[in-house]
Amino acid sequence: MKTLREKEKLIFEISKKGKSGIDIKFTVEEKDFEGDYSRKGEIGLPQVSEVEVVRHFTRLSKMNYGVDDGFYPLGSCTMKHNPKMNEKIASMEGFLHSHPMFSYNLVQGSLKAMKVLQDYLCEITGMDFCSLQPAAGAHGELTGMMMIRKYHEKKGDPRKYVLIPDSAHGTNPATSTFAGYSVIEIKSDKNGCVDVEALKEMINEEVAALMITNPNTLGVFEKNIKEIAGILHSKGALLYMDGANMNALMGVVKPGEMGVDVMHLNIHKTFSTPHGGGGPGSGPVCFKSHLAPYQPVPVVEGDDEKGYTMNWNLPDSIGKVHGFYGNFLVTLKALAYIMALGGNGLKQTTFDAVLNANYIREKLKDTYNLPFESETLHEVVFNDKNQEEYGVTTLDIAKRLIDYGIHPPTIYFPLIVRGAIMIEPTESESREEIDYFIEIMKKIDKEAKENPEILKQAPHYTPVRRLDETLAARKPVLRWKGENND
Ligand SMILES: *Cc1c(COP(=O)(O)O)cnc(C)c1O
Repeated sequence: MKTLREKEKLIFEISKKGKSGIDIKFTVEEKDFEGDYSRKGEIGLPQVSEVEVVRHFTRLSKMNYGVDDGFYPLGSCTMKHNPKMNEKIASMEGFLHSHPMFSYNLVQGSLKAMKVLQDYLCEITGMDFCSLQPAAGAHGELTGMMMIRKYHEKKGDPRKYVLIPDSAHGTNPATSTFAGYSVIEIKSDKNGCVDVEALKEMINEEVAALMITNPNTLGVFEKNIKEIAGILHSKGALLYMDGANMNALMGVVKPGEMGVDVMHLNIHKTFSTPHGGGGPGSGPVCFKSHLAPYQPVPVVEGDDEKGYTMNWNLPDSIGKVHGFYGNFLVTLKALAYIMALGGNGLKQTTFDAVLNANYIREKLKDTYNLPFESETLHEVVFNDKNQEEYGVTTLDIAKRLIDYGIHPPTIYFPLIVRGAIMIEPTESESREEIDYFIEIMKKIDKEAKENPEILKQAPHYTPVRRLDETLAARKPVLRWKGENND
């Protein structure tokens, strides 16, 4: 029998000259392109029938794993269920067919939807303003850091450094650097939080900002956040909060009340829009009024009475960070989600996300080692210390989970935990699904003791077995290469 992998190759090999699917003839005049525009030779696509194409892509789709297939506890990614209702709203004709070049009086509904969403996000975060332009979390970070830079520049003092905790997401140092700053790392204390004493020593008038994730990537709430904000503000520095983990705070606490000056949200995490294989996502930035003059243009303004419009007249704006108005249809899905749940629903979401993570923590803490004992919120970080003596590593555990139909959690992150296994179940999983995961994690621990080899060889039942991850990242083979078709 052929494996799926071998079958996939066949699509190119069964190609026969002249084979094709249904070919509808339109009555339009055909014209050949001339000169540089004309094709010089065959394009080398396989020539196959419709049924062969359908089966090829259906087969490929089954080789993948997504949040609609099963449990996907990828820590710090908030892979939760994306309610199908969101898609329906975003597919409504008036939204779907509204074009960014339409004059504003033709798209009042779309402009209002943007304004209403911005207002909701300000309410949820406790901030004064919001821009929907950034297309991802990292993009929101960059936008926020550019606004911080402009803020300092306008005061005649651009400053040099951004402080970032050692538990930070990798995008934080990257975006600070892109915004023209040098990054200085701050150590975490024994509880996994920012070391406030270290901060006091490091802060000075050359520091532009501190970027903090709260709750941080260990899932721990930064209890000293207000004190941290005070220390920064006393030296004229600002506080940037990476709000990708809002799933743990929404409806319960507001970053705006913790002293945060600017933050981003991940619509494709907390507000249940698909991550979409790299896009389109959305990472709105929310900020206090002292940063408003620097926000991206245009800014949606107005109300039902006056009507809605776009304001381009912001002389100190950092400019545009995205074509037109951001990924509008993605932001619309977030609006649908927020309106469907309402304030109490959003709060319940947070409680359930935190409860699910803590349930897993409680059930697995005697099996897997907990490197930090601090109370955690929406995610929990274990490591492979207990399995080490059997020669089993985090990677082996993660790969074995695939055999049981579970997507591996985030591994080897955060970097401050050796062999980290970072689990974020989210609120959208059922008790039964979470119990199954717990049972499998215990089973894998048992296998580690009794038959470690089975873990070392995992996964066993996937279209491709264990890959060389470095090669896969550095030299990905993204398409089939035949003898005459490379
Ligand atoms: C996901 C995440 C980001 C980056 O968001 P993208 O949308 O992937 O760019 C940044 N910080 C944290 C803490 C995250 O979890």
